[in-house]
Amino acid sequence: MVHMKKEIVDEIEGIVGRERYSTDTADLYVYGFDASIHHKTPDIVVRPTTTAQVSDIVKLANKTLTPIVPRGAGTAMCGHTVPLKGGIILDLTAMNKIKELRIEDLYCVVEPGVVYDALNSELGKRGFWFPTTPGSAEACTIGGMVATNASGMRAIKYGATRDYVLGLEVVLPTGEVIHTGTRTLKNSSGYQLDRLMVGSEGTLGVITEVTLRFAVKPRASAMTLAAFNSLVDAGQCVSNIIAKPLLPSAIELMDSVTIQAVNKCMNVGLPDCEAICMIEVDGHPAAVEEEMKVVEEIARKSGAFSTEASSDKKRISEWTQARKAILPSLSRYGEKYVSVALADDMSVPISRIPEAVEAFQKIAEANGVIVGTYGHSADGNLHTKMLVEPYSEESWKAGERAVGQIYDKVLELGGTVTGEHGVSITKAPYMQKERRDSLGAMRAIKRALDPNDIMNPGKIFDWEGSIISHLRYPAFTEGGCSCSQTCDQG
Ligand SMILES: Cc1cc2nc3c(=O)[nH]c(=O)nc-3n(C[C@H](O)[C@H](O)[C@H](O)COP(=O)(O)OP(=O)(O)OC[C@H]3O[C@@H](n4cnc5c(N)ncnc54)[C@H](O)[C@@H]3O)c2cc1C
Repeated sequence: MVHMKKEIVDEIEGIVGRERYSTDTADLYVYGFDASIHHKTPDIVVRPTTTAQVSDIVKLANKTLTPIVPRGAGTAMCGHTVPLKGGIILDLTAMNKIKELRIEDLYCVVEPGVVYDALNSELGKRGFWFPTTPGSAEACTIGGMVATNASGMRAIKYGATRDYVLGLEVVLPTGEVIHTGTRTLKNSSGYQLDRLMVGSEGTLGVITEVTLRFAVKPRASAMTLAAFNSLVDAGQCVSNIIAKPLLPSAIELMDSVTIQAVNKCMNVGLPDCEAICMIEVDGHPAAVEEEMKVVEEIARKSGAFSTEASSDKKRISEWTQARKAILPSLSRYGEKYVSVALADDMSVPISRIPEAVEAFQKIAEANGVIVGTYGHSADGNLHTKMLVEPYSEESWKAGERAVGQIYDKVLELGGTVTGEHGVSITKAPYMQKERRDSLGAMRAIKRALDPNDIMNPGKIFDWEGSIISHLRYPAFTEGGCSCSQTCDQG
């Protein structure tokens, strides 16, 4: 059903043409999802192709007080693109051109809908890469990565998206188009507004162009798979490697729940144990060979009962595919469970990983929930996925209790509730706790740039109440949602 006034739909048609918007029920339903637990149906989906069209649509939204949510691939995990208050979903995937590749200047200029892997495939032909490596690399867009400050398994060595953004073109919530940053590698020219836009989750404007620096691709890489009988020992191994000192390009940690889930679904034969670490080093081939030996030695000294080092691309690819398969595999862990993104992305100082993983296990047991722990542990970023029974109110509530306790522990350890996925809905109450003394400043910036609160409203500092709402699952009772807050699941 179309809730939007006909005059607004007509004006949108005047801006983008009949082919580039939809009010079809099926389209609207699908665009109400991202990779989170939440869902809400928008009133219209618009697919602009130019900055001028984006600006005109945003001006219209501002004039008519219509909520507007920018969207890339919709892989965000906390409800980022779920249009809580309905309105316009602005799908930017048709703006997908690589506009400039300035190899000698070490930067490129891209439209926001360019997919991460597509950009790297072009850079790779010339010996360069944008090394942030999110797990969603095949799908996520550069615009979405900037808006969430995405990163991934190689952040310990190569940083996050913010470290590569040199400049942006942004359509502000008034429709005004501004250019932030520069095309130079250095810039101290006034407020770093591009930094403000990084991680703004579609609440401060629409990014319509990104100037990104890139890096030289390492010549070689190798990986060691170390197996442990204790998750704490595996966590300790991570900080022992860093403290050596040795800078790995990645360390992926998997606990027994995630190992069992993957082994059940894939034929890679991960060691059946309490924890494994996949430790990657890269660089000059001679350095890689030497560092692999050191890594194996540290892993053994940290309690690994076996290590297997490999520079064979096929073997490494099997391990990394196993790591990537955690999410879908967890959903097949037990028939009555689904794996959901709850408490999924905390970061702690590296040396606190053993305490963190031990506490997560105890909290899971105390609340009677199953939690799989894994993550890009080299930089202290841990992921937990919770297995819940989607039709059981008690299961969701136990999950939410565990989430609160997990985040309290993370904050006690000096960590953050989100290392890379962002806040939106699912982390809002916990981020509000973490950032207690700067929420006022964030709200002031939001009100100054978006006085009519049209851009992705109701999220981050404006979210109130339980995160177990607007659920994508027909929760609590089969066939219908008894969720107390406004929700469109019938
Ligand atoms: C299997 C899987 C693995 C993942 N692994 C990682 C990981 O390793 N690291 C990581 O950081 N994340 C990861 N994620 C989360 C997600 O992929 C990232 O946050 C990604 O950057 C989102 O990109 P997207 O194009 O899908 O953006 P979307 O999900 O479409 O949008 C994300 C947010 O950005 C805003 N936005 C999108 N485009 C624009 C724009 N042009 N202008 C303004 N705002 C915009 C949206 O409003 C929304 O708030 C993973 C997700 C999945 C499903």
